[in-house]
Amino acid sequence: MRLPILTYHSFDESGSPISVAPATFRRHLARLHAAGYIALPLSEALERAGGPTRRQPAPARERVVALTFDDGYAAVYRHALPLLADYGWRATVFPVTDYLDRDNAWPGQPAFVPPARLLAWGELRELASLGWEVGAHSRTHPDLTRLDDRALTEEVIGAKAVLEHRLGQPVQAFAYPYGRCDRRVRAAVRTAYRVACTTVMGVARGTSDRYALERLDMWYFSRAPLDGLLASPWMEPYAALCRAGRRGRGEVQQAIRCLSTGRRSAGGD
Ligand SMILES: [Zn+2]
Repeated sequence: MRLPILTYHSFDESGSPISVAPATFRRHLARLHAAGYIALPLSEALERAGGPTRRQPAPARERVVALTFDDGYAAVYRHALPLLADYGWRATVFPVTDYLDRDNAWPGQPAFVPPARLLAWGELRELASLGWEVGAHSRTHPDLTRLDDRALTEEVIGAKAVLEHRLGQPVQAFAYPYGRCDRRVRAAVRTAYRVACTTVMGVARGTSDRYALERLDMWYFSRAPLDGLLASPWMEPYAALCRAGRRGRGEVQQAIRCLSTGRRSAGGD
C-alpha cells in the first residue's frame, strides 16, 4: 500500500500556516483529477488502497489519495464541499467538538494563527449526510501527551461519544491535535478508533503504524507541483525536507525553488 493522505485546514488568502488559498486548492484538485487520481475519505481510501486495515492489494492502475481537513473550519463547507462535489469526491473532516459553532480560539492556539470561524453543527451534519467521514480531533485541542489519564479519556473517548450521539453514525478515525502522541495516547486512541493520523510528513504505507499514519500538509504544496510529486521518486526526499524545514519554513520555500528548477532541467534533458 502507498496512500498519500493530504491535510488541509482552512481556505483563505492570509498565507498563515493553516491556510491554503481557495484558488490553490482548486488547482490541486484539478491537477489530481487530470493525473488520474480519485479522492476519498480516509477510512474508505485505506480500504481501497489495501491497508493497513485490509491485506488485499488495490487494482494496480488506481491512484487514490485521502483528503483530510483538520479542526473543522467553516471554510471547508464554503470552499471544499462545492469543489469536491464537482468531481464526485468526498473527504474526512476532523472537528474539535467543543468548538463547533465557535471559532478557533482554544487555549494553546499560537498567536500567528488568525481567528477563523469553525463549522456549525448543522453544517457538519450536512457533510455527514453527503457521505463525508467525520473523525475526531479531541474536544478542546490540547496536547494530549500532557494530560492525566482522566482528561485524556475525556478528550479522546468524549469527542467520539458526542459526535456519534449527535450525528448518529460511527466515528472510526482520529487526528492527534498538533500531531502530538506517545505510547500512552496511542493506547487510549486504540481502544475506540480504527485509525489515527499524525502530522509527520510522509506517505502512508502498508508498513505504517495505523495509529500513527503519516500525512502530507498541503501548506507545503502551495507552490510545489503536487500531482507530479505524488507519483515521483522526489516525494520522499521532499517530505523529509519539509520535516526538517518545520524549524524554518524558508528552507522549504528554497527547496521548492530547487525542485522546480530540477524539474525544468529534467524536462529539458
Ligand atoms: Zn488541529
